[in-house]
Amino acid sequence: MGNNRNPRIQFICDFCGQISSDKPSHYKRKRRHFCSQSCYSAYRREIMLPEEQPTWRGGVSRTESHRRWKKKNPEHMAHLKARRYAREKGAKGSHTFKEWNEVKQAYNNRCAFCGLETKLTKDHIIPLSKGGTDYIENIQPLCRSCNSRKWTNVYENPEIARGGNEAVAALSSLDAARGLSRKA
Ligand SMILES: [Zn+2]
Ligand SMILES: [Zn+2]
Repeated sequence: MGNNRNPRIQFICDFCGQISSDKPSHYKRKRRHFCSQSCYSAYRREIMLPEEQPTWRGGVSRTESHRRWKKKNPEHMAHLKARRYAREKGAKGSHTFKEWNEVKQAYNNRCAFCGLETKLTKDHIIPLSKGGTDYIENIQPLCRSCNSRKWTNVYENPEIARGGNEAVAALSSLDAARGLSRKA
């Protein structure tokens, strides 16, 4: 220590003002220098500006930063909300946000019934109320309007629940019978 083969840089502690030393490589890496861990802690606690702190989150509290994350990730929030709902309904199984995104990709981000490229909602192919699970195999992406149409029609026409061409045809004929026209 301190011999010629291990040169050390002398400095003044940024907190207590005592002279101390450190290896040049360590010294150069840091903006501020402290004689001890406790001086560093005291400096962080008493002097360091909030934006200099390693845990700085842009001047917002943990709650506020979580609120901002939620606002920026509405799809993920909808996923968590749906998962909570499925659990409350006593559904077996669950799926991840990644699996849900993969299913949407498999449908080219289109509604499994009408093929519209729009905001997609999760549909349980076999409804939770009929004992359907929350596993990804029981999930398909539907647009809002197909999802609500399915809900009002699924018990009269079980094939609607399965999606695909039969479902589209069944929905079309139901809509026609009710004097509605399909947008897609
Ligand atoms: Zn010190
Ligand atoms: Zn649709």
